[in-house]
Parts: sequence; structure tokens; C-alpha cells
Amino acid sequence: EEQKLTRVAELLASSRNTVVVTGAGISTEAGIPDFRGEKGIYRTLGEQKVTALLNINAFRKRPREFYEFYRRYFLLPEVKPSRAHLLLADLEKKGIIKAVVTQNIDNLHQMAGSKRVIPVHGRADRFLCTGIGCRFESDAGYVRDYPDLVPKCPECGNILRPDVVLFGEPIQNHRLARDTILAAQVLLVIGSSLTVYPLAGFVSEYCTGDRTMIIINKGPTALDYAATLKLDVESTAEVLEKIARNLP
Ligand code: NAD
Repeated sequence: EEQKLTRVAELLASSRNTVVVTGAGISTEAGIPDFRGEKGIYRTLGEQKVTALLNINAFRKRPREFYEFYRRYFLLPEVKPSRAHLLLADLEKKGIIKAVVTQNIDNLHQMAGSKRVIPVHGRADRFLCTGIGCRFESDAGYVRDYPDLVPKCPECGNILRPDVVLFGEPIQNHRLARDTILAAQVLLVIGSSLTVYPLAGFVSEYCTGDRTMIIINKGPTALDYAATLKLDVESTAEVLEKIARNLP
């Protein structure tokens, strides 16, 4: 294992363009449960229920039911970046990594100080008015304090929606995320089961040919077989710390 960590540090040190791809697993140490891990809501509620509720059609047709669910699981209280988020921001400052493409909606990379973050599933700390032509947006606090279950726009009265990609919707930054991943010299995947498309498809596309991919994850991912190095970890923060110590 020690050897693997030294090897990862070597690969990162000699790469001109390292791109990081992160999933919910990097935020579990910040206290946000993932979907597919041990305590994920796919285990506790079932995948079918989650995809049916967190869905654009459910939002349009049954907004009360949508918001009941959304408020319970996604309107999170204040969260702070984990040690892992902070280490990644630090590695960017040192020029070791160039960009973070993330599936997370928690904004923790940005809060940790990462500058080049490409979120593909939006951000949960922002709500947008669905009224045509209305540009009102609010933070999560407005929705949390709203007197009704379903929050409405104070300007036009239309329903607000979270600025997150729901099932049945296209991802954000599609082109930029794909281009950034395909241009990488080393791809470092952290805390993603690599089963959510289309992002997992970009990673898979990157892997065709002789490309360097490092995976740091708790448990298996769908693309373990394509990895140059796979680190099966309990704590991403601990492992990143060790890697950072091995860097020049
Ligand atoms: P996932 O839930 O499919 O996979 C997360 C992976 O991380 C799992 O394999 C899990 O075992 C692993 N993991 C858990 N704790 C870890 C740790 N401490 N260190 C390393 N690995 C750890 O997540 P996903 O692939 O990102 O897909 C789920 C989708 O749901 C995402 O696309 C995302 O948009 C959304 N989501 C976001 C958040 C968030 O913003 N924090 C949380 C839950 C779900």
C-alpha cells in the first residue's frame, strides 16, 4: 500500500495536467451521506423511490411531494469542507492539479478554495424561479424559512426550483466537463462509484487507449478494471494527506 502511495505521488508530480473527478464519496467525511455507499439513500430508501421523487416530472406534477422529500434529504444545514476538500484546493494552488469536475451539489470544493471547479449536477445552495423571464434566485435559507412547504418567488409568485440537475434532465457543463476530462494527462477519481451517466461515460472514454487513471474510493467502482492504480480506502482525507506528503 505504501508503494502505491509513492507511485501515485510520482505520477502526480510528473503530470502536466492532472484533472480530478469527484463524487459523493469525498463529502461523506464532511457529514453528507452518499447515494450508493453503506449509509446512502439508495440503501435506506431504495433506488427506485429516489429516482422517482428526485425527478423533473415529479417536480412539475407533484411539487408538494417533491418538496417534502427534497426538504428532508437535501436541504442540508450548514456544512463545512472536509480535510480532503481542503487538500485538493491546496494541491491546485501548488499547481499539482488543474481542475475538479464534480458530480456533487454541495459546493464544498468551492468553499474549500478550489478555483477551477466544474460542477455537472448544479448546486443545492441556490434556488431559481421557474417563471418565464423571471431571474429571481435565492439561497437555501430562504427556502428553509419559507412559511409553506413549496417555496414561491416573491417577485412573480411562481414556484422555485433547486438549481440541481434532476433525473430526466441534462447535466450542466456537458461539453466543458468532457473536454476537460479527455484533455487530462492523469485522471484522479475520488469517491465516485462511476455509475452515473454521462460523467461516467466521459471517464470511460478517457480510458480508451493507454491513459493514466488513479481511483481513490471506498469499495468497488464500475471502472476499476481500467485503472492504472486503485486505492480502496476508508478515509480519503487520510490517503490524500499521505500522498501530499510524498510530493516534492
Ligand atoms: P455514489 O453514491 O454513487 O458513490 C459514492 C462512492 O464513494 C461509493 O462507491 C462509496 O463507497 C464511496 N465512498 C464513501 N465514502 C467514501 C470515503 N470517505 N472516501 C472514498 N470513497 C468513499 O456517488 P456518485 O457516484 O457521486 O453518484 C451519486 C450522485 O448523487 C452524484 O451524481 C451526485 O450528484 C449526487 N449526490 C451528491 C451528494 C453531494 O453533493 N455531496 C451527495 C449524494 C449524492
